[in-house]
Amino acid sequence: MSRSPLMPVEDALEQLLLMANEQQLADSEVLALDEARGRVLASDLVATLDLPPWPNSAMDGYALNLADLDQQPLAVSQRVYAGAAPEVLLPGTCARIFTGAPVPPGANCVEMQENVEVLDDGRVRFLQPLKVEQNIRAQGQENRVGDILLRAGKRLGPFELAVAAGQGLAQLHVVRRPRVALLSTGDELVEPGQPLRPGSIYNSNRVLLGHWLRELGCEVIDAGILPDHPAQTRLKLEQLQVSADLILTTGGVSAGDADCLGQVLRDSGKPLLWKLAIKPGKPLTVGHFGTVPVIGLPGNPTSALVTFGLLARPYLLRIQGVEDVMPLSFTVNAGFDWHKPGGRREYLRVKLEAGRAVLYPNQSSGVLLGATWADGLVEIPENSTHNLGDPLRFIPFSELF
Ligand code: AMP
Ligand code: MG
Repeated sequence: MSRSPLMPVEDALEQLLLMANEQQLADSEVLALDEARGRVLASDLVATLDLPPWPNSAMDGYALNLADLDQQPLAVSQRVYAGAAPEVLLPGTCARIFTGAPVPPGANCVEMQENVEVLDDGRVRFLQPLKVEQNIRAQGQENRVGDILLRAGKRLGPFELAVAAGQGLAQLHVVRRPRVALLSTGDELVEPGQPLRPGSIYNSNRVLLGHWLRELGCEVIDAGILPDHPAQTRLKLEQLQVSADLILTTGGVSAGDADCLGQVLRDSGKPLLWKLAIKPGKPLTVGHFGTVPVIGLPGNPTSALVTFGLLARPYLLRIQGVEDVMPLSFTVNAGFDWHKPGGRREYLRVKLEAGRAVLYPNQSSGVLLGATWADGLVEIPENSTHNLGDPLRFIPFSELF
């Protein structure tokens, strides 16, 4: 076999995102806010309300007009609770006011109740120097009618949904879910709950990727386990291509392995079989079956995890219209020495302890348990060595969901 150069991770990502740009989903649906978490906004959210809609008090206290201060103590002419509609402030008086209540027209300042003296006759003396607009949340200080609050392509989490709620919206326009057919390949695989045969192992990838896909807004078409058998593989892909936007598989892509998926894609079109400069996860198959894109991840659970998180995840977000698909990352200091330079970019499962990245003791790509122990991945660039304390890029697992 010829030793073609390995493809750098960023080149693979670039090709996947180009593919995703061509395959962006055009359809949208309207969902209640309670259903829209994790989905992607299909059109700009434009404000129809000023927020706050009127000036309101930031404190429990007294609203007054500073021009009346020289007449103090001031009589209290009205009480304004949150939810009330105040009267115009009578000249020479103040208003008792509570947090969130509209400031009466004519008042230009709120003093907190701790800084006043209430006399026996109920009049109020202001004890501290006061400034115009003090403790008043101005109308429109957050946004004005017509402002674009969220752009199409924004992923909706609790913050975004709360902003929509603040505008009085009960529903939002979201991009429809990508339909992802999930297929685990391997003669050795058995589903949890079934008896284990000699030589078999349980299928962990279906659970790993099924949950992850749903977190990313996808509808999962669970296509189960597929034996390493080219004709059956072809038949299965023929069935799945009818309903899927993407066929996502694990296993069967390593050279020397049964490599069924690679064979079928090569026979039926134009496969892009990549040998990536990434560890874990070197073999990755990207191609089409008919017109449906196929991403074939390696079978080792941690290889599947790393390649899904770094490559398939951005693809799935981009087809939903998300612009910024890369996880946030930051620099941490190595809590270890690394004196084994490799030709592939390596992603190690680490925990952050006192600002340092500590390695999970077993970094084998077959070991999934390290991911449950770790906080995320540190990246070891190709052909590099590192000493304790050296800066490394860290990607928190929390960023990948
Ligand atoms: P493959 O990419 O098919 O050569 O698989 C690589 C390794 O990952 C083998 O040891 C497989 O048994 C294992 N493997 C493949 N698929 C799964 C799966 N769905 N769950 C757990 N292990 C798997
Ligand atoms: Mg296999």
